[in-house]
Amino acid sequence: MSTPMRTGAAPTTQPAPVGPPFGFSASAGPQPAEVSARIADACRRRDRGILALPFTSPEYRDIQRKVDELLRQMLAVPPHFDILYMAGGASAQFALVPLNLLGQHGRALYVDSGHWARRAIGEARRYGDIAVISADASVIDSPAPQAALYCHYTSNETANGLQFRRLPATPLPLVADMTSDLLTASPDWSRHGLVYAGTQKTLGVPGLCIVIARRDLIAAPHPLTPRVMTYAALASAASRLCTPPVFAMYAALCMLEWIMGEGGVAIMQTRLTERAQAVYRCIDDTPALYRCATDSAWRSLVNPCFDLPDEATRQCFLEAAQTSGLRDLAGHPDVGGVRVSLYNGLSDQAVDALTGFMRAFAQGPRAH
Ligand code: PMP
Repeated sequence: MSTPMRTGAAPTTQPAPVGPPFGFSASAGPQPAEVSARIADACRRRDRGILALPFTSPEYRDIQRKVDELLRQMLAVPPHFDILYMAGGASAQFALVPLNLLGQHGRALYVDSGHWARRAIGEARRYGDIAVISADASVIDSPAPQAALYCHYTSNETANGLQFRRLPATPLPLVADMTSDLLTASPDWSRHGLVYAGTQKTLGVPGLCIVIARRDLIAAPHPLTPRVMTYAALASAASRLCTPPVFAMYAALCMLEWIMGEGGVAIMQTRLTERAQAVYRCIDDTPALYRCATDSAWRSLVNPCFDLPDEATRQCFLEAAQTSGLRDLAGHPDVGGVRVSLYNGLSDQAVDALTGFMRAFAQGPRAH
């Protein structure tokens, strides 16, 4: 590299803010301004405000019905799949999937692709006979035949910045944790038996988990599965066996209507691909400063992860970014490095600000 590249040096000038603060957190996705304004209005409303809306009211039922219709339409969910709405996050599903699908003596296959897959595996082992395969291309392209009821994989490893570009080649029904990439592509329903995702990243706020399950797979749960967490019971009660997370459901509706208005999942996918390419271009154009350890065939579009040559340079990058209004770029605590999260609600300005900052940082102290 011929440019005077930054390594380890403290900034000599304070970087100028690049615009309004932009958040790149992996744990919670941003909402577009019109979506947050709509949610705020619904909170302020004196009559039938969303914070005190009874789940038994026709207004709430209408919200849930619209969420249902939008998900079915945008993800092309076939009629023999139920869509369930459950309180809590995806971690609860790590236990609820084996409880609902394996019955008392079932066996399942899990693909170990990183942090969240291992969390799912650890929990599933408490409830079933779990076989694990690695996410190496040679293994997932021709996994050994397994007498198992399903194959679980994590479509996007949020912590590791790794994403499945093609599905594991098993004949088993696939179960996918899509917490960080639901509504960024259309799942192949002929291969999937169940998909689940917490809504806080790509379609709303924390508190709601969406489970889309093939009806025949959820007919024989473990008898000790709590009733309010039994998929078949939820399906037959329109997910209203107990109070659903009303506010999170409304936020999901606002995000879904926004995504629909933007042009649906296809547009989210195109936008995400372009944004990820812009970030990876910055990384690849400056290999002496930015290093992405993920094999290019597995690079996540949603959470590009990279690192800098040493701790001091990384710290300098993160501090300068923070001062410039680019927040929450530190990698997952178990992985380290830098992580950019490009969830659906992120603005073009945020991505432009980040890539501009990355290029300027590579030029040296006074360039950004
Ligand atoms: N799976 C994936 C892929 C995730 O990214 C996360 C959260 N970052 C989870 C599961 C866990 O979600 P929650 O904390 O909402 O249970």
